[in-house]
Amino acid sequence: MKNDFVKTLGFKLILLLVTIILTFFTTIYMFNTQIDKLKLQIDSIFFANLVPVLKLQKVENSYKDLIICIKENKSCKRKPFIDKIHKNWQYYNKSYKTIEEKMVVVRIDKAMNEALKVNASIQNYKLMLQKIDFLIAYEIDGAYKERKIFLNDYLSMKNYLLYSLIVLVFIALAIISFIIVSIIKKDKDLNYLNKKYKNDSITDAMTKLYNRKHFDTLFDHLPKISKENHWKSAFIMCDIDHFKQYNDTYGHDMGDTTLKEVSKVLKEYFNKEYEYVFRLGGEEFGVLLFDTDLSILEQCLDDINKNIVRLQIEHKNSSCLPFVSISMGAVMYTSKNDYSSNQLYKLADQKLYKSKNSGRNKYTL
Ligand code: GH3
Ligand code: MG
Ligand code: MG
Repeated sequence: MKNDFVKTLGFKLILLLVTIILTFFTTIYMFNTQIDKLKLQIDSIFFANLVPVLKLQKVENSYKDLIICIKENKSCKRKPFIDKIHKNWQYYNKSYKTIEEKMVVVRIDKAMNEALKVNASIQNYKLMLQKIDFLIAYEIDGAYKERKIFLNDYLSMKNYLLYSLIVLVFIALAIISFIIVSIIKKDKDLNYLNKKYKNDSITDAMTKLYNRKHFDTLFDHLPKISKENHWKSAFIMCDIDHFKQYNDTYGHDMGDTTLKEVSKVLKEYFNKEYEYVFRLGGEEFGVLLFDTDLSILEQCLDDINKNIVRLQIEHKNSSCLPFVSISMGAVMYTSKNDYSSNQLYKLADQKLYKSKNSGRNKYTL
């Protein structure tokens, strides 16, 4: 049973760990894929819109410089300007474009090739400036659109992450709480069973008093415990008078009922700390009183005799009274007499014998 418990506990702990790890990795995976998407979009805005606009501005500036140069100096060397324009235009031309953009650029590219010829006129260059202005405006417009798409995507991505994380955490929490609750419940069950088993193993089933086994354990320790604590401790041996005759007269079932009633009286009377009542076997009982003294003990013995008779359980064939009674033998352990538990037991037995022989329903101390 304990093994089964340990196995299922182990399984549940592993499940718990797996749930936590899975949640952890799923979260990381979700964040990673979404962040990658964002990076791609930012890259696309940067390389497909911002950089091309910069290149177009360089082309535009070079054209402006070229026009100024020609106006100021008839023999202006055009080649460095044209090379620069050509280089930046090529870069722009090769950068990523949608089909729609490509259709726009193809037309301007033709005009650009014409304008880059050696004998092109200032008029040609001015026309190109207009076209490039248009392209810049066109690209900026595209960038705005891209940004709008990006913002929308970003928002839905944020919501997607938020809601899926809430769901994920909720599921994980549900699984984890289920596992923890079932572990705690199992633990409770086990504790209850352990306690019950422990109690059962030291309890007499019929009278619910402590059993003989528990008496032996505790009684063996009586001298040692008493000595260490400087206590006087008592052992009382009780025996129901003429119980065989009681059974013969009233039947075994009535005998059992009487045994239970006598037990109840003893248990209720000795109910304080350091007071223990045992069923030693048959109709014999034992009482251990730790940390007591002679006057208390005598009072107890007197009370017990009286309380049992007071039950007024009819026993018409008893030699001493018409009611059920008990006889007792009691011994006191003190550090002075220092008896072993064996010696104490024998002494108590002798005292009980004496009570029986001197008329029953009495105690001998
Ligand atoms: P005494 O006064 O000398 O003690 O006489 P007694 O008859 O009580 O002593 P004895 O030892 O001869 O008999 C004890 C009887 O207790 C015998 C047995 O039938 C009865 N007894 C022992 N255990 C139980 C039990 O669990 N239930 C019932 N009903 N009777 C029991
Ligand atoms: Mg007996
Ligand atoms: Mg008896």
